[in-house]
Amino acid sequence: MEIIIAKKAGFCFGVKEAMNKAFAAANQIKDRPIYTYGPLIHNSQTIDKLESMGIRSIEDIEKHPNSTIIVRSHGVPLSFYDLADRYGIEIIDATCPFVRKVQKIAREYYLKGYAIVIVGDPNHPEVIGIHGWCENKASIVQREEDIDQLPHHDKVCVVAQTTITQELWDAITKKLEEKAKILEKFNTICIATKDRQTSCAELAKAVDAMIVIGGHHSSNTQKLVQISKKYCKNTFAIETVEELPMEEIKNLNKIGITAGASTPDWIIKEVIDKMSNTDQHNNEMMHMMEEIENSLKVPRRGQTVKGKV
Ligand code: SF4
Repeated sequence: MEIIIAKKAGFCFGVKEAMNKAFAAANQIKDRPIYTYGPLIHNSQTIDKLESMGIRSIEDIEKHPNSTIIVRSHGVPLSFYDLADRYGIEIIDATCPFVRKVQKIAREYYLKGYAIVIVGDPNHPEVIGIHGWCENKASIVQREEDIDQLPHHDKVCVVAQTTITQELWDAITKKLEEKAKILEKFNTICIATKDRQTSCAELAKAVDAMIVIGGHHSSNTQKLVQISKKYCKNTFAIETVEELPMEEIKNLNKIGITAGASTPDWIIKEVIDKMSNTDQHNNEMMHMMEEIENSLKVPRRGQTVKGKV
């Protein structure tokens, strides 16, 4: 079995920063409770780890005055900051810079009198946050057909949830171009998402099966699953090593692995280890993903793995 890991996969810049801020807070702040506003990442093992360090996730800041609250990489509505101030809450802001950019564009163009369209999932916290930067007056669309339902506006500004696919962005903005007189388009899909999606597609075309590792509720992971399925019918979405479909893949030659932006490196390593230790033949690691190869205790790019394989 040959295991090939996507060139870009796993923890992204924004999630790494949020994790670093949370761990630093746990070590440094001892005189007040620390919470995260919603789960810091879509990974239950990491959430358990944070809880063991005394950091719980909350949804209602009013019930936790005078605490420290970590804003996760998804960001929050603008009104959150005033509310926190009113309750004496100290904020550790881990809003990803890519998300902040979308929030600022939405606000700027809203104040200039543009109708704001957000392409994304209306229930996703990132989209809820962006919406709050334009006083919850935006239209949120996630399918091409949704454009037909939009009221007419002369001036429209459209932004993207950072984790949508390029394909969805292209389809929706094309349709929007026919509808709005003046259209300001900001493709705010983040670079980490683009890189992960592109390398997932490349890999899915070249293997017999794909393993996509990440939270079942993680938006960016689900997009990777969608992309992978398009090019590789044997695509398996797993959250932990226990879900690895060994029976289905054991006789296949080439297996690709990718992982969502909130998948910790150690889970990816567990999956690789299990696959490496199960196959009956020598197992060659062809490509280690660039972003995690320094932190994983696994062989370097092109190095052959031998053992009980
Ligand atoms: Fe930031 Fe992109 Fe990661 Fe979201 S997926 S946290 S926007 S780097």
